[in-house]
Amino acid sequence: MTSAVLMAVGAIVLVAGWWEVSDRASMESQIPAFNIAVLGLVLIGAGQGLWFLRGRRACSDRRRLLLGADAAPAVISAAVEDTDSFAGTERFYHRLDCAMVDDRDWAPSPRATHERVGRTPCGVCAP
Ligand SMILES: [Zn+2]
Repeated sequence: MTSAVLMAVGAIVLVAGWWEVSDRASMESQIPAFNIAVLGLVLIGAGQGLWFLRGRRACSDRRRLLLGADAAPAVISAAVEDTDSFAGTERFYHRLDCAMVDDRDWAPSPRATHERVGRTPCGVCAP
């Protein structure tokens, strides 16, 4: 809601600045109204920035909800830690219960093996 209000106010300020600029003949007299139009552009940009950040946050929350990263019980994580088995790709290694490992035939191996070949921990399951 805040982003929509910012963009709407920015659009009104931009049109008002444009209207004032178009009504003045000399360059010097147009500058104050031009500054008002630029302020409108800044408000529109701020509104779009807030809208974008809210969308990013919603996508992040949804991804966390779908992948269940927050809901992973500590007991399962501790069991995986005890066996020291992780599955990996070329860049990352994961806990065996990570959603990124589902339906893949990656062979489990110890953490040290993954770190030796330069793999980094997955950002979702945080092994
Ligand atoms: Zn993972």
